[in-house]
Amino acid sequence: MYLIDGKVVAERINEQTRQRVARLNERGIAPGLAVVLIGDNPASVAYVRNKDRTSQKLGLFSRKIELPGETSQSDVLNIVRDLNADPAIHGILVQSPPPPHINETEIVIAIDPAKDVDGLHPMNVGKLAMGDPAALVPCTPLGCQRLLLESGIETAGAHVVIIGRSMLVGKPLALLLMRKGKGGDATVTVAHSRSGNLAEIARTADILVAAIGKPEYVRSEFIREGAVVIDVGINRVEDQASAKGYRITGDVAFEETAAKTRAITPVPGGVGPMTVAMLMVNTVTACEHQAKIAA
Ligand code: NAP
Repeated sequence: MYLIDGKVVAERINEQTRQRVARLNERGIAPGLAVVLIGDNPASVAYVRNKDRTSQKLGLFSRKIELPGETSQSDVLNIVRDLNADPAIHGILVQSPPPPHINETEIVIAIDPAKDVDGLHPMNVGKLAMGDPAALVPCTPLGCQRLLLESGIETAGAHVVIIGRSMLVGKPLALLLMRKGKGGDATVTVAHSRSGNLAEIARTADILVAAIGKPEYVRSEFIREGAVVIDVGINRVEDQASAKGYRITGDVAFEETAAKTRAITPVPGGVGPMTVAMLMVNTVTACEHQAKIAA
């Protein structure tokens, strides 16, 4: 079994990003990322802190906008419109999930598609579906695909089963992996909570992706001997033995499945670091496009 180390791959990609930023700096351009956080959801606070830190480490201009949980829809929309018009900002991300009174779809649609580094604007979703290489693609699916590529795992002709059909992970990953060309050309099956015989479907996978949000849901009976497993899940489970009172676990029961796999991502240290690395890549790409510079 080969352990796919997301931290190592992410660091390699970050180094390439750092060089792209330096080249832009030489032309007097500083790629800028704005991350908007509404409320104080502990997981979101940690994600935003991490994104802000990584931006700074790679030499990007980073703007963290922290808003109280009771901020109104119209105030958030006004902030997004200001960021759309701000020439120092090339990428905008509104951390999900926002508080329940916020209409997330309306916020996403308000973001300038050219600055939509989360790849959730309908314009980018449409471009991805059409196979347009100019699409800004959501960072987590992009990270999953890149992990496969960097680990030498062939997707062409492989049967990929993705469990999860969210707009953030499952759907865009299916579109990416079925796209023609490098890192694509897979035969993709997307399963979800209404799929029958889930374990049976999963066992047909050469590459199994779990993006469910249920700790250790994928057990040994889901895995075919020699399959590659990408665990997207990030779940906090209570753990009194840990100083924090919780630990992070994936959607895959690692201990009982790892030995059966050809390769598997750990949680933490698998897809998570890749998501942040790809956000940086998307921001630099968005900046290059806005500055009309070829990568
Ligand atoms: P989501 O929007 O809640 O979607 C979960 C998907 O899993 C849905 O399509 C749902 O089916 C399906 N599902 C739920 N229970 C199921 C079951 N018992 N059997 C089969 N399918 C089931 O979650 P998400 O945003 O895609 O995130 C999924 C996981 O990835 C979460 O743990 C999240 O924290 C993690 N995540 C990690 C990263 C990272 O950087 N590593 C980034 C984003 C998300 P229905 O559509 O039928 O409800």
